[in-house]
Amino acid sequence: MTVKIPSSQHPRVVIIGAGFGGLELAKKLRNKPFQVILLDKNNYHNFQPLLYQVATGGLEPDSIAYPIRKVFQGVKNISFRMAEVQNIDSESNCIQTNIGSLEYDHLVIATGSKANYFNFDSISDQFMPLKSVPDALNLRSYILQNFEEAIATNGEELPELINFAIVGAGPTGVELAGALGEMKKYIFPKDYPELDLSRMRIMLFEAGDRVLPAMSAEASAKAEKYIRQFEVEVYLNTPVSAYSGSELKTDTGDVYRTDTIIWTAGVQGAHPEGLDPKSIAKGNRILVDNFNQVQGYKNIYAIGDIAAMISDDFPKGHPMVAPVAIQQAQNLAKNLLSRKADKNPTEFKYQDKGSMATIGRNRAVVDLPGFKFQGFFAWWVWMFVHIISLIGFRNKLATLWGWAYNYFTYDRAMRLIIRPYKRRKHDPQTEKEETAVEA
Ligand SMILES: Cc1cc2nc3c(=O)[nH]c(=O)nc-3n(C[C@H](O)[C@H](O)[C@H](O)COP(=O)(O)OP(=O)(O)OC[C@H]3O[C@@H](n4cnc5c(N)ncnc54)[C@H](O)[C@@H]3O)c2cc1C
Repeated sequence: MTVKIPSSQHPRVVIIGAGFGGLELAKKLRNKPFQVILLDKNNYHNFQPLLYQVATGGLEPDSIAYPIRKVFQGVKNISFRMAEVQNIDSESNCIQTNIGSLEYDHLVIATGSKANYFNFDSISDQFMPLKSVPDALNLRSYILQNFEEAIATNGEELPELINFAIVGAGPTGVELAGALGEMKKYIFPKDYPELDLSRMRIMLFEAGDRVLPAMSAEASAKAEKYIRQFEVEVYLNTPVSAYSGSELKTDTGDVYRTDTIIWTAGVQGAHPEGLDPKSIAKGNRILVDNFNQVQGYKNIYAIGDIAAMISDDFPKGHPMVAPVAIQQAQNLAKNLLSRKADKNPTEFKYQDKGSMATIGRNRAVVDLPGFKFQGFFAWWVWMFVHIISLIGFRNKLATLWGWAYNYFTYDRAMRLIIRPYKRRKHDPQTEKEETAVEA
């Protein structure tokens, strides 16, 4: 079956993924002499930097997700199809999706990344990832479900229900730890007055020797101080070595009881099948040249998290952050137009505008090129940058309103278990029996 697309006299650019990179590229090709087909497995764009706020009840999911069709209403040369791309057949310039096949003149892979569980792949269903809106809603439900279960025994049994382990102290892990700390301080005492919340533990595990390892030492030190103020236990140089479903073990030999492990310890590329294995770099990213052209292919490009553009400045490829995806999309749009006009394309040069993270109310750390600051002003800067980066006036307003409400009421309104999350719990006894039967 072929996906039905209106006919066009222009060359067809198929973009897989409407994340930061794919969406920006489509916007830049608006009303240009290309037929653009934008594909995504979801019908919305997901603003990942604020997922942790959805997971902790601070924002509604539709404040940070935006319908892709709405972005391109009335734009004649762009069509959106909700489709998951499964395979790329470069011989026939065709892709296979769950809704049919589709031919392309130029193909752009902008499929982003997925959680990397390293050697925990076989038990990854025990961990809570935070990459998508459903992940954030699952986590929100699971936190609240566990509190509801804990209150049945006033928290005297099953202490793991109110203990939370976050693995990985990058920006997501740190921001999440701060948000959980705020819930422990301001929300749970009001909602669960019978529970002894001094027993609630928020534990942040990091294999490296500091939190926010990609930021300055100053930012790391301040962020650690801030999260500790929320009674978060920070374990540095402490890789996690095993998890039994209720007990987490670390390389140091210590054991921590927890029912919830939130996995923020790393990501890897997520791309459809079909490319030559020689085009795939470490971390499952796609090797591209300085023009984002996939190694070994003339008309296939990759941008954003999925692209590994290896250079002396970036021996492991660029950081997997939104500005890289956006800037590569902008450069690729220019290059597609240049090539069409028989002009030379321009190499991609990353403009690093800095990085930031927030830790609860009034506290953030910001590293700008040549200028670092932390605290209250940094928190305002963090809020401003995130509000202006959100797509759509409604989402900006909804987020601003959500934050103002949280700030002035010390509350988080979205504490609803709409669709309970069922985690598959491993039962070592049953598994032993299952293995015995199979054998
Ligand atoms: C929790 C979290 C917090 C973050 N915080 C920050 C931050 O504060 N600042 C920052 O700069 N960066 C942050 N990042 C990283 C940032 O979100 C990514 O670098 C950015 O999203 C990469 O953009 P992209 O276009 O490459 O991929 P994405 O934005 O991930 O988009 C990929 C798109 O492809 C779609 N897709 C994937 N596979 C297929 C398929 N086979 N078929 C069809 N569609 C497919 C997905 O549905 C998705 O819409 C954060 C990431 C996470 C997970």
